[in-house]
Amino acid sequence: MPIRMYTDTPPSSPPPTSSHPSENQSHQPTNPPSYSTQSLHTNFIPRPDHLSQQILWIGCSDSDCTETTTLNFLPEEMLEHRNLGNMIIPGDLSSEISIRHAVCELRVKHIVVCGHYGCGIVRASSREGLPGLWSSKLDSLHAKHRHHIDLLPVQQRDDVFVELNILDQLRSLRGMAEVEEATRRGELSLHGMVYDPLSGRAVALSEGCSEDV
Ligand SMILES: [Zn+2]
Repeated sequence: MPIRMYTDTPPSSPPPTSSHPSENQSHQPTNPPSYSTQSLHTNFIPRPDHLSQQILWIGCSDSDCTETTTLNFLPEEMLEHRNLGNMIIPGDLSSEISIRHAVCELRVKHIVVCGHYGCGIVRASSREGLPGLWSSKLDSLHAKHRHHIDLLPVQQRDDVFVELNILDQLRSLRGMAEVEEATRRGELSLHGMVYDPLSGRAVALSEGCSEDV
């Protein structure tokens, strides 16, 4: 059951007023990206039969989300990379080498990009203090969707922007040749998630057929 979902509702409908990400909501942007959020079920990513590193987790440096608890995996079964805003930026050697190592050498089966509601870095309203490389990607994403998200209350605007940022990072992941090749062979799956510190639970983002993210 989706707990947040963009719809094709005409833009004349009023914007939603609820601010909590776990409430039922629908948004009415003029050109909405197609995705929904789903509660994470217990066995979202099945545990492997034998002990091995199966997952690359890309998270935010200032998130208190514990990836092993969220996914019910052991620490030794996961590789972790964190930076401010859980970003994958072309030219960022740190994230690129982690991804390449995970995909090409460890041959992980899953990459999870997990953001969190309330992230102080990923804000639709303000990105003051971020260096240009980090800020410019978020600025571009905001510019692309501001006609929709700027209509929302500030808290909800930031929550939606956290979700859009996850979809944007997944898009960047798919742009990496190693990732594209592994997913094309069916050996790698990509997942977007957002952790809600209020509930202590994460939601998974399900993308629709739209590429407009
Ligand atoms: Zn954060």
